[in-house]
Amino acid sequence: MNEAYHASLKVITTLESHGYQAYWVGGCVRDRLLGKEPVDYDVTTDAHPETVQRLFSKTVPTGLQHGTVAVIQDGQMTEVTTFRQETGFTDHRRPRQVTFVKDLSADLSRRDFTINAMAQDRYGNLYDPFKGAEDLKRKVIRAVGKADMRFQEDALRMVRALRFMAQLSFQLDAETEEALLRQKKLMRYLAVERVTMEFHKLWKTRQPSQALELLWRKDLFSDLPPFHRWNPSTLDPSSFTRLDDIKDPQICWALLLYLYGARGPDITDRLHSLRLSSKEVAFIRKIYQLALGWHLTESDEKDGKRLLLSEGLDVLSKSLITASRMYGWEKGNVQTLQQALKRWYREMPVHGPEDLQLNGQILLESVGRKPGPWIGQVIQVLLEKVALGEISNQRELLIQEGCRLVQDS
Ligand code: ATP
Ligand code: MG
Repeated sequence: MNEAYHASLKVITTLESHGYQAYWVGGCVRDRLLGKEPVDYDVTTDAHPETVQRLFSKTVPTGLQHGTVAVIQDGQMTEVTTFRQETGFTDHRRPRQVTFVKDLSADLSRRDFTINAMAQDRYGNLYDPFKGAEDLKRKVIRAVGKADMRFQEDALRMVRALRFMAQLSFQLDAETEEALLRQKKLMRYLAVERVTMEFHKLWKTRQPSQALELLWRKDLFSDLPPFHRWNPSTLDPSSFTRLDDIKDPQICWALLLYLYGARGPDITDRLHSLRLSSKEVAFIRKIYQLALGWHLTESDEKDGKRLLLSEGLDVLSKSLITASRMYGWEKGNVQTLQQALKRWYREMPVHGPEDLQLNGQILLESVGRKPGPWIGQVIQVLLEKVALGEISNQRELLIQEGCRLVQDS
C-alpha cells in the first residue's frame, strides 16, 4: 500500500476516534476490489465539513458547498466528503440543493454507477447496497436506481458511463444502455468543460476506441457538445482504434481532430471550443501540423536537429507518434526514429538561446552597432551553428563569428 493509502487511513482513524463514521468510497473501493492500485483514496464521513476542518491541522476547502474538504498530511491529499443527498436537478447538470445526512446508504444512493457506489471501513467490511461487487464480476456499468432518471438528473453520467467502459473494459448493462439512448439528447445541456474533463480521463485509458465507437455507432456525438458542431464529412469508426494504447491527451486530441477531418483554421477553432487553455491549444496545434507534414527520416540529422531546436523534443516526439497513427506506419520504424530524435537531442550542445555562451547584450557591445532586429537574427544563426556542431559554444569564438556575420550582412 502506498503513502496515499496510509494518509487516508489516518484520516479515517482520526474521524472515528472523535466518534464519527468514516469510510473509503467510490473509485478506490472499486479499484481495490479489481486488484488495481487506486489513483486516490476518497473518504466519506458523517462529520460536517467545518468539523473536518477543525479536526485536521491542514485542510483546503476544495468544494465546501458540496461538503468536500481536502486534508493534507505528510504531503498527501485526501478528499473528505460529508454524506450528502442531492436534490433539485433542474438543468440536467448539477443539483440545486445539497443536504448533509447521517446515513451512509443515502450517500451511496446519489452516486452514479453501482461499481462506484460502494464503501469500505478500515476493518475491511464492504457496504454495497446496490450490488456493485457483483457488477464488477459481471463487468458491467449499471446505473444506481432508475437509469433514465439518473441520466436526466445529470447528463454527464452518460459520458462517464462510456468513459468507465473504456477504462475498465466493461460493457454497459442493457437497461442502462437503453436509458442512455433514450436520454442522449440531454447531453446538449452539458458544459463543455465537464465533457472535456471526462475525455481527458478517457485518453488515459487503454482503449478509448471502446467509448468512441459506441458514441459514433449510436449517433451520440451529434448531441454531445462541442462535437455536435463538428460535422465530419467521412469517418470510419474502426479508425478509432488508432487512439488506443497512447494514453497521452495531447496526441489523442490531435488524432481525433484528424479523424474528424479538421484541417487548416478549423483545428484552432475546434481546440478552443473544447475550452482547452491557450497554451494547450498552441501545443496540440503544433503537434498536429508537424505530424501532418512529417517528412523526417533517420538520415535527416541536420533537419532533425534544426527542428528540435525550434520545437523541442516533447513536441517532436509527440508529433512523430501522431504521424505514425495518422498514416499507419510500422512500429519498428517509428521506434528507430524516436531513438534518433532522442540521440540528436542529447548530442546537441545547446537547446535554446539560454544555453548559448553569448547573449544579445554582449553581442551588441562587441559589434558596436545600433540595436535592431539583427541581434536576434545573429543569435539565432549562432545558436543553430552550435546546435549542429559547426562551431563550439565558446564566447570568444561566438563573438568572432557574430562580427563576421554582421559584416557579411
Ligand atoms: P477515477 O478513479 O477514474 O477518478 P472515480 O470513481 O474516482 O474514478 P471520480 O470522477 O473521481 O471517479 O468521482 C468520484 C466518485 O464520485 C465516483 O466514484 C462516484 O461515486 C461519484 N461521482 C462522481 N461524479 C458523479 C456524478 N456525475 N454523478 C454521481 N456520482 C458521481
Ligand atoms: Mg477519482
